[in-house]
Amino acid sequence: MLQPQERKNSEQLFERAGKHIPGGVNSPVRAFKSVGGNPIFFSRAEGAYVFDEDDNRYIDFINSWGPMILGHGFPEVVEAVQMQAARAMSFGAPTELEIQLAETICEMTGIDMVRLVNSGTEACMSAIRLARGYTGRDKIIKFEGCYHGHGDSFLIKAGSGASTLGVPNSPGVTKGTATDTLTAPFNDLAAVEKLISENPDQIAAIITEPVAGNMGCVPPAEGYMEGLRALCDKHGIVFIMDEVMTGFRLAPGGAQERLGVEADLVCYGKVIGGGMPVGAFGGKREIFQHIAPTGPVYQAGTLSGNPLAVISGLTTLRYLQNHPEVYAHIDHMTERIEDGMREILENSKLPFTINRLGSMISIHFCENEVMDYTTASEGNNNYFKQFFHGMLNEGIYLPPSAYETWFVGNTIGESELEHTLYAAERVIEEMS
Ligand code: PLP
Repeated sequence: MLQPQERKNSEQLFERAGKHIPGGVNSPVRAFKSVGGNPIFFSRAEGAYVFDEDDNRYIDFINSWGPMILGHGFPEVVEAVQMQAARAMSFGAPTELEIQLAETICEMTGIDMVRLVNSGTEACMSAIRLARGYTGRDKIIKFEGCYHGHGDSFLIKAGSGASTLGVPNSPGVTKGTATDTLTAPFNDLAAVEKLISENPDQIAAIITEPVAGNMGCVPPAEGYMEGLRALCDKHGIVFIMDEVMTGFRLAPGGAQERLGVEADLVCYGKVIGGGMPVGAFGGKREIFQHIAPTGPVYQAGTLSGNPLAVISGLTTLRYLQNHPEVYAHIDHMTERIEDGMREILENSKLPFTINRLGSMISIHFCENEVMDYTTASEGNNNYFKQFFHGMLNEGIYLPPSAYETWFVGNTIGESELEHTLYAAERVIEEMS
């Protein structure tokens, strides 16, 4: 029988947090709603590990929901941030660092222009505003189960945290906004074609996660991204890839490079800040010239391009650019996790589907193929809960929702792999 780890300090902090912070958390997905129990409070992190307030150690497969691709406390990033903090924290005025980051992003991804913001949400909100301003059209198409941050237009069948809480559409989003957001199932080109023909010359943008990570990991079916690209070309629609999860993770050039499909606009977050709050949206010069101050589409930010955040992102991206072996390593380790988990689950009586692309992976406890939100929702959440808590008690920190992907970082080595699979074997045996 597994023994739950002692988490007395976390429990006390959670009770204290709830007095002034709704639900005790500053982002709902942290709240353990779908798996039950209370969230863990963390105090420090090192490499592949996070340590909670009771000094329990866990192998981290959340990695701050993606950003910590190089592991926690990566020395070059820490040193760069410390030096910058001593030099200047914020100007609200241009710096050379911003140019360096913009140049690095454009070199790695092949986009023409980029604007820095503070989060993935801001990047996606701004990208659709730009697409609307550029095309003069109001409606957008998004996909069920894809999450693009908490902007009003996106909180329609939004996957991830929203699905975990059972709120596919959030109160507070006006009917007008909701009407302008059309939704289709992921991986269903015919549904997109139908929406376009029902709304002729009204669709400004199609926005999609190229590899969905907010209904678990759901890779695009063969030809799907190419199909979306072709539909956008045919109907004058701006094709927006939300690469907040996939950017700088699936390849230096993100999903655009990995899948070989080019978007008109791209949104970044997570890895781009190396653990600090950075987002960015960018794309083709012809569209991007419409953004203020060169064009009329307004977008701004007091802390956009903040030097501390920028140096953290820049140091991370430059390291990735100069060390392509990182991608080979994280992909290889994730493949071995997939193989190991598959073997363990095949030897059990549990239904399961494992989806993976590169270093994004998830397990759904169902037999069906998981290729959209409907099939992702067919996973057995009771099994997921047992698996999650069992792994947690074995010192493995997984996302506390079946709708989230695991993110594998570069500091996962042989001993972490061994520990993870050994833990999974014990947990799955308990569950069977
Ligand atoms: N887009 C995607 C694909 C995401 O996964 C997320 C967050 O998880 C966002 C946008 C929003 O980013 P942020 O939480 O930085 O606002």
